[in-house]
Amino acid sequence: MRAVVWEGKNNVRVSQVPDPKILNQRDAVVKVSLTAICGSDLHLYNGYIPTMKSGDVLGHEFMGQVVEVGREVKNLVKGDWVVVPFTIACGRCFFCERDLWSLCDNTNPNAWIADTAYGYSGSGLFGYSHMYGGYPGGQAEYVRVPFADVGPIKIYEDLRDDQVLFLSDIFPTGYMAAENCNIQPGDTVAVWGCGPVGLFAMKSALLLGAERVIAIDRLPERLLKARECCAETINCAEVNVREALKEMTGGRGADACIDAVGMESHGSNVIHMYDRAKQALMMESDRPQPLREAVLACRKGGTVSIPGVYGGLIDKFPIGAAFAKGLTLKMGQTHVHKYMRPLLEKIRRGDIDPSFVVSHRFSLDDAPRAYRMFQDKEDECTKVVMKP
Ligand code: NAD
Ligand code: ZN
Repeated sequence: MRAVVWEGKNNVRVSQVPDPKILNQRDAVVKVSLTAICGSDLHLYNGYIPTMKSGDVLGHEFMGQVVEVGREVKNLVKGDWVVVPFTIACGRCFFCERDLWSLCDNTNPNAWIADTAYGYSGSGLFGYSHMYGGYPGGQAEYVRVPFADVGPIKIYEDLRDDQVLFLSDIFPTGYMAAENCNIQPGDTVAVWGCGPVGLFAMKSALLLGAERVIAIDRLPERLLKARECCAETINCAEVNVREALKEMTGGRGADACIDAVGMESHGSNVIHMYDRAKQALMMESDRPQPLREAVLACRKGGTVSIPGVYGGLIDKFPIGAAFAKGLTLKMGQTHVHKYMRPLLEKIRRGDIDPSFVVSHRFSLDDAPRAYRMFQDKEDECTKVVMKP
């Protein structure tokens, strides 16, 4: 079959790879109908996630039709349309039983790597390095889906692929980021990053009752998308974000702050140069400027929610400010399984149509161009979907 494979830093290719097979009786094989490139894939593309190997199949946002099931998969039959969560979970361990699906104890065969780096390993992920299990991803014609009796949800209704595909990741991710803010009536939520995750966090904050959302980014076309999601906006390339937020919130600060940027933030100031230099010298793995800003801009007693991915160690984290203001920090890979069905219900009811994020549609064969375009934000690219 054809699949998008990682060949090294800034190098992806469409290659012939072996067709996936059922390896375990809880597996299914899915024929992919639509897949997407995620901001998280850019961290792989740019070489910031260790333990990638040349030839690894990419992709963790995908959906399609079940073509084969193992004997123990009783909930799916050949022909079902499914959306698959990017986190792989067994459904039976201590963590799955507590709705902490992305922390499943049983799905990362390479857990020792993460154990060494992080103390304990989270769940396996599709198409996301050997540290996360080395599972071939969904930017391919077919995918083996382990624990298919637990993860995939069936789509019965008359909804388009691009309306439900994002249940696999970015809609639940934005939603969990907003839910982690413990939003109260009247709250103002500030969101750094107007990429797909930030945009879903904004929409979700409003669904969860926030009164105001303030969006921060440096790309005018993305700030425009945020305004279309009913957010007020700050262009961080033009103004001092902390001062602007202070002024917009009557001096008190935002009640909750969401970092939907993660490890590859951009900027042009001294602190950005500092992070760049330390990253180049491998003395700091991530560039966390939006996170520092969020901690400093948050009101006393507020929450900083971090859906943006961080991989290792950061410098100059204002722990004193977080302590002095009594902040709550919440973060992590999304517990996608927990959110898929309730969010499908919201789509079905018409509360939200997730296809609003899509800016570009490609064939899987155009993946190298699609990656370049999404990475460089060319042609106002906000989200790419690809059809095998
Ligand atoms: P994206 O790259 O499309 O968006 C990031 C946005 O941040 C861009 O619009 C960029 O201009 C903006 N930005 C850069 N520097 C900034 C700064 N200093 N201040 C404000 N904005 C800045 O990515 P995305 O798909 O929206 O994903 C966002 C983050 O969420 C990534 O780190 C991704 O890995 C992560 N993510 C996490 C999960 C999870 O489970 N927690 C799931 C999916 C994605
Ligand atoms: Zn993703």
